[in-house]
Amino acid sequence: MKNVPMRTCVICRNVREKRDLLRIVRVPEGGMQVDPTGKMNGRGAYICRSGECLKSVKDMKKLATALSVQANKESLDELMQDIQIKLGTINRQGE
Ligand SMILES: [Zn+2]
Repeated sequence: MKNVPMRTCVICRNVREKRDLLRIVRVPEGGMQVDPTGKMNGRGAYICRSGECLKSVKDMKKLATALSVQANKESLDELMQDIQIKLGTINRQGE
């Protein structure tokens, strides 16, 4: 029996296998960063890799709240772009 690690998406609150989620970590400088390997140090939150979540800045704010990060609109826009790039890369690798 394999023990599959499960995590909760902070946006839709669905529990999924860890590999179906993308990890976002809080960095010491106070911002957020995409953690494609899931191995970075720091407080992390998970979002769906399917692309259903994090489509709007409103969702980004939920993520910031989950990580207790004070983020301005510019940094949220930047992170959202970065997430979409990373998700695109991950999806292509899976084919
Ligand atoms: Zn989700």
